[in-house]
Amino acid sequence: MSTEFERIARWFLPLDQPAATPPPLLGNGDDALAVRTDQVQVMSIDASVSGTHFPAGASAEDVASKALRAALSDLAAMGARPWFYTLSVVVPTFFPETWWEEFGQALARENQLWQLPCLGGDTAAGELLVVTIQVHGLCERPLTRSQALSGDDVWVAGTLGGSGGGLKCLLGNRNSRNTAAQQALMDDFYRPVLPLALMAELSPIVNAAIDVSDGLLADLGHILEASHCGAKLALEHLPMTQALVSEFGVVAARELALSGGEDFAVCFTAPRAQREAIMTRADGLDTPVTRIGKITEISGCELTLKGLPYVRPDAHKQKGYDHFV
Ligand code: ADP
Ligand code: MG
Repeated sequence: MSTEFERIARWFLPLDQPAATPPPLLGNGDDALAVRTDQVQVMSIDASVSGTHFPAGASAEDVASKALRAALSDLAAMGARPWFYTLSVVVPTFFPETWWEEFGQALARENQLWQLPCLGGDTAAGELLVVTIQVHGLCERPLTRSQALSGDDVWVAGTLGGSGGGLKCLLGNRNSRNTAAQQALMDDFYRPVLPLALMAELSPIVNAAIDVSDGLLADLGHILEASHCGAKLALEHLPMTQALVSEFGVVAARELALSGGEDFAVCFTAPRAQREAIMTRADGLDTPVTRIGKITEISGCELTLKGLPYVRPDAHKQKGYDHFV
């Protein structure tokens, strides 16, 4: 049985790779990290709690990718480039040593994928697995929710509904045996593909942005409220994967896309004149980007399907996820 510091030294201190750019003045291993930068620094912190953010039986690898990407998604929404992160873990004492190994190795792979190191953290034992990640990014101009303008296009970078569909598959109440589609959806839940590079490139021409963590309508709603405007969405354009539509059918898939949550796509608004520029940059980065509607002066979100008013089958389910109600 290894000690706390042996575990930190073995599994967490090596996570300071790849090298941070710019490098910290003092990296991991001291009582605190020290950094200096003349750029705008963006920070966001997210806790991932066993049984709340992922099923209690999730593998260490799945917890690692989900926790890191859920946190990193906020940098995508801000149009920031990832710089480094810090990591706090609370781990039950009965977890085997192999859990730590799998978790550390999975994070090391995530670090390479997103090109950001872990430069500090805290390790404690507790009754429930909790992984808290604070991400630090750099940007020229942080994007906000409050600058959408009437006439802007509404865009989604990434796809919608897959994560909510994946959670339904994980919870196991599916009758169909379409395992390839179910596997793809569970992957959307544990390994959402973040439009980080695209949002950093688009930041000079985007007016408002938010990451889709609580469902498109809930999150776009935050933009509309902060920007004092409304929106009109054409639901035939919602970016849904083939796996989602084939597993759930188009009506239920659309509901998952509107309010499923945790997709970690980014919803943003931009002037009409930027359409070409947005498409070109998205093509260059191979990131799906879809124009789904317009910002309007009238408050509220009007839904249409092929030009006709759209009435949701579950109108009472319009609210996004809330931890307390
Ligand atoms: P202190 O008791 O001074 O808070 P710790 O013993 O908690 O220090 O941590 C020692 C060093 O190990 C620190 O530099 C800290 O950043 C690092 N560390 C501890 N836990 C983690 C972790 N989960 N991930 C990354 N670094 C960690
Ligand atoms: Mg100390």
